[in-house]
Amino acid sequence: MKKIKGIGISPGIAIGKAFVLEFPSLQEREYIIDKSSVDKEIERLNEAINATELQINELKQLFEKQVGKQYSDIFLFHLTLLKDKRFKSEVENIIKEERINSESAIRKVIHRIGGIFKKDTKDFFQDKRRDILDVIERIIHNLQGYSYTGIKVFPDEIIVARDLSPSQTVSIDKNYIRGFITAIGSETSHAAIIAKALEIPAVVGGEKIITEIKTGDTVIIDGQVGEVIIKPSKKIIKEYKKKQEELSIRKKKLLFLKDKPCETIDGKRIYLHANIELPEEVEAAKRYGAEGIGLYRTEYLYLNRNDLPTEDEHFLAYKKVAEKIGSEKPVIIRTIDIGGDKFVSALSVRKELNPFLGWRGIRFSLERKDIFETQLRAILRAAIYGNLKVMFPMVSTIEEVKMSHRILQKVKDDLKKEKKKFKDDIEVGIMVETPSAALITDKLAEESDFFSIGSNDLIQYTLAVDRSNEKISHLYQPCHPAVIKLIMHTIENGKKKGIWTGLCGEMASIPEIACLLVGMGIDELSMAPSAIPAVKEKIRTIKYSAMERIVQEVLLFETHEKVYKYLTDRTKGE
Ligand code: PEP
Ligand code: MG
Repeated sequence: MKKIKGIGISPGIAIGKAFVLEFPSLQEREYIIDKSSVDKEIERLNEAINATELQINELKQLFEKQVGKQYSDIFLFHLTLLKDKRFKSEVENIIKEERINSESAIRKVIHRIGGIFKKDTKDFFQDKRRDILDVIERIIHNLQGYSYTGIKVFPDEIIVARDLSPSQTVSIDKNYIRGFITAIGSETSHAAIIAKALEIPAVVGGEKIITEIKTGDTVIIDGQVGEVIIKPSKKIIKEYKKKQEELSIRKKKLLFLKDKPCETIDGKRIYLHANIELPEEVEAAKRYGAEGIGLYRTEYLYLNRNDLPTEDEHFLAYKKVAEKIGSEKPVIIRTIDIGGDKFVSALSVRKELNPFLGWRGIRFSLERKDIFETQLRAILRAAIYGNLKVMFPMVSTIEEVKMSHRILQKVKDDLKKEKKKFKDDIEVGIMVETPSAALITDKLAEESDFFSIGSNDLIQYTLAVDRSNEKISHLYQPCHPAVIKLIMHTIENGKKKGIWTGLCGEMASIPEIACLLVGMGIDELSMAPSAIPAVKEKIRTIKYSAMERIVQEVLLFETHEKVYKYLTDRTKGE
């Protein structure tokens, strides 16, 4: 038996037999064709491209039926490439001029495209590169007469792969598959988005996982904590089966809490909100009882496309969220936070040595004012349809907040001049996700209507631990005393200045930690929709006054483990 700690990218427990995907490389070789066969070769190429387009369209429709259009749009880039006249004519020209077979001509063109992407931006290149390779593999399969029917899985299998392309992920039979383990990827990878949409447990386990797991091995995935157990003992399997059953019973039971308020026994009210990436996720947020949207990660508007979203596209997305959740319910729209581990689409962001410490969040927006202003205009205009608020990410200095306010004011003045309808008195908050911001929250509170603690980043920067590096994930400690002190300091400063403080990082979704945050005086917690019921259940069993005392005790502890264990013991059945 072996336990590997990785990163949970889609919650839930899965137990099954591993199926390690080893994609055989296609038997390709370059060969010269006769002059008289050139037209036939081009016809062969066109047939393969048409067949690929048909297959991708089928996959897109299938996926749309399964989980909705917002996810199936992942394939738009594939289709764009297949329809791209320049791509096709370049391949044809190489066939004509060099008189080589289609497979080799395609590889040459792709090599060139790859070079262009590489020059522009590494992150963008990596994302698109996967999509391009996905399309190319399919065209070549079709050229060689193989039917690319996707990955065959048997019941109760867990897919183990180095990486999964969107079309591979989608073509797996969801009735059989129990979970995914990939070596590389992050919470924002395509595979993660798809796994979450399908509610399939998934973990990213690092390169080692590929050699550790063999096809046929029994494996357990815990997508919540990001753990993989290889060849578990009978006792462990029994334990996890029990956990699995409990989870499914609890899931059903917890839905009864949907319309109950989130308050402690002694009446302290906490607002539970949902984190979303796409407007369509509002449905899930409502289903799990979210009282609003605490974090709308707008980066996804820039995904799977080669151009920038227009003001109207932003506007329609925000209006849709406001209307779907209900006009009274708060919706916090975070302005673009690209860089770090986030998708970078049509924006040419240079490769940086330390992307997490680089040009991201508000730093990017303040330099690319054109992009920032477009987004702010749309937020202000959509705000008349609901209770929208705006929030700036990755703040580290007060000047950044002041500059953002100046830009917001300029945008309002422009809209006024243009006689456009918009909400003038929109609330403006900031994310507290750097230690520098947390430590100057007394000053930042003067410039903000609310704080939302981005603990995912706050932990990363406080402990100097890359949040997406599975090798050092043991150092990623939400209950580290330094993190707790920074959070406490932020909440206290918010209270002193009369503004509310929420927390929208992953730690809000761990019920015991959520209770600690309640004791610290947090006003709002925002998390993945499916995490809401369990957090609500726990908070409804605790006393605020008791948690306040526990906070004082915990502030004296010296390790994450001690804090977490103490919290687990003290919140058990209280
Ligand atoms: C955070 O940093 O905690 C957060 C919620 O933002 P993101 O995960 O999008 O960086
Ligand atoms: Mg963040």
